[in-house]
Amino acid sequence: AKAAGRNAVRHYRSDLIKLQNTNFSLLQQLRDAIENQEFELYFQPKYQLKSGQIIGAEVLLRWPQADGSIIPPDQFIPLAERSGLIIELGNWVIERTFAQIAEWKQVIGQQIPVAINISAIQFRDDNLVSQLTEQAEKYHLDADKIELELTESLLLSDTFSVQKQLDTLNEKGFSFSIDDFGTGYSNLRHLQNFHASVLKIDRAFICNLSTSERDQSLVAAIVNMSRALGLETIAEGIEDEATRELLISLGCDQGQGYLWSPALPVHNFIQLYPA
Ligand code: C2E
Ligand code: CA
Ligand code: CA
Ligand code: CA
Repeated sequence: AKAAGRNAVRHYRSDLIKLQNTNFSLLQQLRDAIENQEFELYFQPKYQLKSGQIIGAEVLLRWPQADGSIIPPDQFIPLAERSGLIIELGNWVIERTFAQIAEWKQVIGQQIPVAINISAIQFRDDNLVSQLTEQAEKYHLDADKIELELTESLLLSDTFSVQKQLDTLNEKGFSFSIDDFGTGYSNLRHLQNFHASVLKIDRAFICNLSTSERDQSLVAAIVNMSRALGLETIAEGIEDEATRELLISLGCDQGQGYLWSPALPVHNFIQLYPA
């Protein structure tokens, strides 16, 4: 217990040190924005590469401002993570996304598969599992059409409790994908513990694919490795037809990117589904 206490203190200290580099007015704005529910969910469609068929969406957070501009998540998610606000914000994203999926289900008669980004910090919260399962129940959703996008840093961050939560969510039927693959510390052994069904190839490998032979070799290797592990692959950041065709030839299964569409507000996204 003493060791655990010491660890807690150390955690607390390192959080304080991180916050020393923080813009406190932005932190206060973020806190207020969460309280006032100022955020908006955008949905970026995902496609089957070969058939071109839409297969669902990734939900991406936006923070609209009074002047009509929008603050992108890269400008507040890191702060939300450092300050711990990501727990509250993430729970809001889960609840609102599920409510949206349920509403669409009424309109088009099917549950659209949606992927939600879950940051590693959210797994420090013991309530994540109950938030996901209770909200899925409340909105009568099939967990297996809800995908959680996780990064590899998750399995490096903690050990036992994270694995336990992943196992429980897996038992409840949620599916997992590994986001930003190839950018961090990739460890094949960790991948197996994820119960992941999809591996997302980071945009860094995709954006120069049609001109870079090196990137083509890397993507080919990632696709082959995924197959060996029984995982499907999705490429993010596909911006042109040449890249799509290359990815098909390399055996990649799915894609998303500006070739089809950026992340869209709700009313624009649902128009991609014929009534
Ligand atoms: P990510 O999960 O890797 O999301 C992919 C990012 O690539 C998104 O940026 C998306 O808009 C962008 N993107 C998609 N297609 C293209 C393309 O063809 N070209 C280019 N240049 N970009 C493309 P976005 O929406 O700004 O999100 C940035 C990051 O913020 C996300 O990266 C994710 O890590 C984080 N994020 C967004 N929403 C949430 C959320 O609800 N919860 C958490 N924890 N993180 C979130
Ligand atoms: Ca993602
Ligand atoms: Ca990504
Ligand atoms: Ca990324």
